[in-house]
Order: sequence, then C-alpha cells, then structure tokens
Amino acid sequence: MDSPAVTRAVCYDAEVECMPPPRLAALREALLARAVTRARRAPFFRERLAGFGEVGDRLPLARFQEGVPLTGKQELRAAGARAWAEGDAPALLLATSGTTGSRITLPYSGGDLRRWHALVARTLWTNGVRADDAVLLPVPLGVFTGGQGMFGGLRQLGCRLIPLGATTTPALADALRGAFGVAPTAIVGLPSHMLRLLETLPTAGVDPAGSPLRIGSFGAEAWTEAARARIEAGFGLVAMDSYGIGEICGPGIAAECAARDGLHLWEDAFLAEIVDRTSGEPVPDGAPGELVLTPLFREVLPLLRYRTGDEAAMIPEPCRCGRTHRRLTRIARRLDDVLVITGVNIEPADIERLLYGIPWVGNEFYLEASGENRDTLGIHLEASERAPAPPDAEAQISEAVRRDYHVRVAVAVHPFGSLDRAPGKARRIR
Ligand SMILES: [Zn+2]
Repeated sequence: MDSPAVTRAVCYDAEVECMPPPRLAALREALLARAVTRARRAPFFRERLAGFGEVGDRLPLARFQEGVPLTGKQELRAAGARAWAEGDAPALLLATSGTTGSRITLPYSGGDLRRWHALVARTLWTNGVRADDAVLLPVPLGVFTGGQGMFGGLRQLGCRLIPLGATTTPALADALRGAFGVAPTAIVGLPSHMLRLLETLPTAGVDPAGSPLRIGSFGAEAWTEAARARIEAGFGLVAMDSYGIGEICGPGIAAECAARDGLHLWEDAFLAEIVDRTSGEPVPDGAPGELVLTPLFREVLPLLRYRTGDEAAMIPEPCRCGRTHRRLTRIARRLDDVLVITGVNIEPADIERLLYGIPWVGNEFYLEASGENRDTLGIHLEASERAPAPPDAEAQISEAVRRDYHVRVAVAVHPFGSLDRAPGKARRIR
C-alpha cells in the first residue's frame, strides 16, 4: 500500500488506530461473539436470537448477518427496558433527542461510560483537538448524549473545558473575550448552532473572524460542505466532522482525520454495515445505503444491527493518514429527513447547498409543503445581515430550485433575525 503514512505520534492510540487489518478483523470477530452473548441477557434480543445457536470465541460477519435481524428505532422504542441486559444497574440514564418521535431512554453502566469517553477523546484528537486547548462546549448537557459524551471525552483528553450549556450569544461572546481567563482555542458543537452564532456575535460586539478559535469539532447533524465553508470563513477556524448517534452511545463513533476524506469508524468498538434501505440486504463497498451499527462494548444496552436512519457509504481504500480503521463517507442525509412534494423528494441538504452558494442568503432557512393542496415547495429564508437581498430575490431562488426540481416553488425572503431559532438541532422541515 502506497500510503505516505503519517507518523504514529499523530494518533491518540496508535496501537489500536493503526492495527494491521487482519488483526483488526480477528478482533472484530471476537468482540462480535461477546456482543451477541451479552445481548442474550436482554429479553428483547434473547427472543430474536432464539434460533441462532451457540456462539464460540469468534463470530464471522456472514453468520451474524444471516442470523440476526435488523433492529429499527420503533422496535427499540417499543421494547423499552426489555432491550436492557438483566442484572446491570445503569449508572447514567440519558435519552434520544426526540427529533423523530418520543424519547428513548438510554442506560449506561460505569464500564460503558469509561469506554465511551475514551472513544470520544480519540475522536476529538483525530479531529485535531489537543490537551492544551481551551475548549468551549456550547451544547446542552442534560440528557442529551451529545453534551454528556463531549463533556466526558474532553475531560478524558485533559483539555481546559468551559461547558457553556445551551448558550446564548452574549454568553458565548463573553467566553470569546476571555471571560474565563483563557483565550478559547477550540469549540465543540452543532454546525447549525455555529451558523446562528456567526450572525449574532457581531451584535454582542465580537467579530467571529477575529476570535482565537483555531479548530472546531462538529456533529450530531448532517451538514454540507457549503455549511462547512461558511463556518470556516466566518470563524477563521478549521471545522471538522465527527459522527455519533444516541442509541449506539452518542458521539465518538467515527471521526474525520486531517486528510478530510471520510470519517474513520472505530472498528475496535463498532461494527458498521451499509444495507439497502428497502431490502435490508448489505450493499457492496462504495455504494450508498443505510448505516447499520452494532456497538461491540455496550453492557446495559447491547444493540445488535441497529438501523441508524443515516445514509453513508463505506470507503474501502486505506486512508493517507495511516489509520487502518475503514472510513464512512460524511453522512449525506437522514433518510427520514425528506419532504415529498408531488412525488418529488426534496432533501434539506440539497437546498442548503444551493442557498449557501448565494452570498446574500443568510444561514437560517426552513422548508414546508405549502399551498392549498400542499403541492408547492415553500422555502423560507433570511437575508444575510451583511449583504442586502436583491429586488428579484424570490425569483432568483425559485429559478435556481426549479432547475433541479420540477415542482412549484414559493420563496419567502425574511429580514435577518426574524425566523424562529429554537435551541438544539436545526429543524429544516416544518
Ligand atoms: Zn485518515
């Protein structure tokens, strides 16, 4: 392999991250066998594994895929505590965000937490965060796995940590001005929140481009390269992607490295499969499909073959950075995050790419089915604070959208700051 391997010193845990692929595959089979054995302690999975037979020291992937059914979010919600391993009292209870339905309770044992925080630390390190960084964490803590996971991971990494919670603009402005006695050099959060802060920080007397931040680690949402370009230019930092999902553990599942060509999935902790969304059958490497994950270390919530609802593809080629763990493409979209107008699928990420390419368009927007028959794509967007919208703004956007989608479009351009900014993940479809 002709990879100009980066020196081992750039890894958080070189032994594991650069493990030769055959050893990594053997480790995965051993961990998979343990994961299935452990899952039998949970009534829900015990029933599903009734006909599976004995598991030895190693479980080959093919047998696992043939014998273990996929688990969807509705099934997990319906199973409730029957999906928890019996005999382990959880040390921490968190919950899903409820973005797509009622919350699901997520239990963690002490062992789960230790392992999870170490994986988040590795993820942040791979993104470029270092122990000598002073890190802002403008993320709600509460039962949100993103906040708790990042808090634990940053503590593990040894950074100076300033957890700002669900931040307001003045609070972040204060932190950037050095209110805590340090110049913050890194920030961890939601990309949509960063785009909002970019607009509002000047009103609090802070120029985001002049901030001391050098690196940002963002995730928990599908975000486009266009959004990344806006965040990087606006804050003058390097914006890196990471992947996580609450049901599996939270953040810390996959991380973008300096090569910025996909996200390394931590194969010593998770098994990833890409399946056809309709048939549930595995697709070949490189083909897009639904990401299915099996955590290999969880004690209390031993999920098997969980459908994430996120679309990705597996990149089989080795990475330039020298890490051997296979990469996922950046999450292109959440499969249920689609607006259907007269039979045409409209994805927020595609509209975002188009809108963010236009300088006078602000960062805030949402889509809806509008018109009496809900047959029109309604696009509500804000003009940017810095550049006024041209007189033919609505027509410009309508035309651009109609070039890609053959649907009726109704565009409403709102003044800067007038659209609702609910805290947490951005709701692009309303
Ligand atoms: Zn890499």
